[in-house]
Amino acid sequence: MAASRIGPAGAISVKLKSESMIQHQLLKSTPGCPRTNWSWLRCIDLKEDEGLDFEDYEDCEYCGQEKIRFVHALSHSDWPGVIRVGQVCAARMTAVSPAELEEAEAILRNRSQRRQRFPRLKSWRVSAKGNQHIDYLGEHVIVMKRSAGYALKIGRKFGELLYPTDREAMLKAFDVLVRRHGSTRSRRAGRV
Ligand SMILES: [Zn+2]
Repeated sequence: MAASRIGPAGAISVKLKSESMIQHQLLKSTPGCPRTNWSWLRCIDLKEDEGLDFEDYEDCEYCGQEKIRFVHALSHSDWPGVIRVGQVCAARMTAVSPAELEEAEAILRNRSQRRQRFPRLKSWRVSAKGNQHIDYLGEHVIVMKRSAGYALKIGRKFGELLYPTDREAMLKAFDVLVRRHGSTRSRRAGRV
């Protein structure tokens, strides 16, 4: 899985990989792991929710399908903790239909596209003081240039953090606004 990143030496990487594969048994071949009747909790977009890049995307814990961006979190009364699987396994293991799972992913994909577009929206304006500002989801957002980075003001509230770039400040503002004002439709997709 992540073994190839540990060292540039090919032989060492291969050895580590085979060891990690032995330790990392798939749930489908783990004794006692239920095959059905799991509860669907939420869909997670690893790119936006956890800031991961493609090479860090997860494998399905149940079947080992590789590099999943949209992970479905499941729980079961006969199994400890929450497991993270791909859409195919989620459909087999829960009562949620493939169409509903696909919709949950589509909502997150849509949110991701809106998030990536947000810093480039034409409705961003520059104030006389040189601060960028926008009205979005009914709130006024200001990105303020400081000597050490960029600060946010959303509505009447000043943020405490500084962001290295204005784009990062804008993305943070998007996350706050969507969490605060996200539609009921997007809430169904889980942690939005
Ligand atoms: Zn799977």
